[in-house]
Amino acid sequence: MTGDADFRLDSKVAVVTGAARGIGRAVAERLAAAGAHVVIADRDDAEAALTSAAIVRSGGTASALPLDVTDRDQIAAAVEHLAATHGRIDVLVNNAGIVRNAPAIEMSPDDWQSVIDIDLGGVFHCSQAFGRRMIADGGGAIVNISSICGEVAVYPQPQVSYNAAKAGVNLLTKSLAVEWAKQGVRVNAVAPGYVGTELTLRGRSNADWFGTWMRMTPMGRLGEPREIANAVLFLAADASSYITGTVLTVDGGYTAL
Ligand code: NAP
Repeated sequence: MTGDADFRLDSKVAVVTGAARGIGRAVAERLAAAGAHVVIADRDDAEAALTSAAIVRSGGTASALPLDVTDRDQIAAAVEHLAATHGRIDVLVNNAGIVRNAPAIEMSPDDWQSVIDIDLGGVFHCSQAFGRRMIADGGGAIVNISSICGEVAVYPQPQVSYNAAKAGVNLLTKSLAVEWAKQGVRVNAVAPGYVGTELTLRGRSNADWFGTWMRMTPMGRLGEPREIANAVLFLAADASSYITGTVLTVDGGYTAL
């Protein structure tokens, strides 16, 4: 029974960015099943409301919050609103992310900047605002959704801005973990391999890309969003109370090759 309690999040409040769909939605569902009140924070507020309602229908507690992770005023307002509503914020999952595929020599300034702003800047600005509040309240757990692309330059699709952003997320995770260790805020990351969501739709529809992905994945299959969500739950819960600054890879063996 004691072991099970380490994986529970009863009476905790968990914010998941980009949680309207995909991996973020699976994370929100998993944290809610572990007892947390989950806040579905997404720039797609209509879809966020549907996801929140689905979690409530299946017996969890959830709410939706419009949030664009590149908008610092919105992030500050979200922290204030959630702290006033719930008293504290225990868990932040920085999941919102986009990818742009283009060869480096042709990549537009927008395809560079938008990915850096969302995938790296969004993680920092949310961590800073929510982390500040967690420190004031005595602690919390932050889990960043990185990628295997933060460790290796995946092949064959070109995506230099995404890879650079995710590499940044890995060292951002370690930097914040070191800075905030004594203040009770643990900061970790999960680095998924290929997962069947909208983000990978283009690659999954391209026989060359998809064939290469599967050949380079020892398990020979895509990951499922719930397999990423289980790793996030571990890092968000007391089960990982002595873990901070780690990047937990969940990739079917891709980076072991
Ligand atoms: P997804 O299905 O495309 O979902 C991403 C969600 O994030 C969408 O709801 C999207 O909303 C939202 N979002 C995008 N920009 C946002 C912003 N500025 N503010 C708030 N929300 C925003 O992607 P996914 O595959 O679940 O990816 C989730 C995370 O996992 C990302 O960080 C991704 O890099 C990472 N990851 C994914 C894979 C994979 O194979 N799928 C592998 C490794 C890592 P919109 O509909 O408005 O865009």
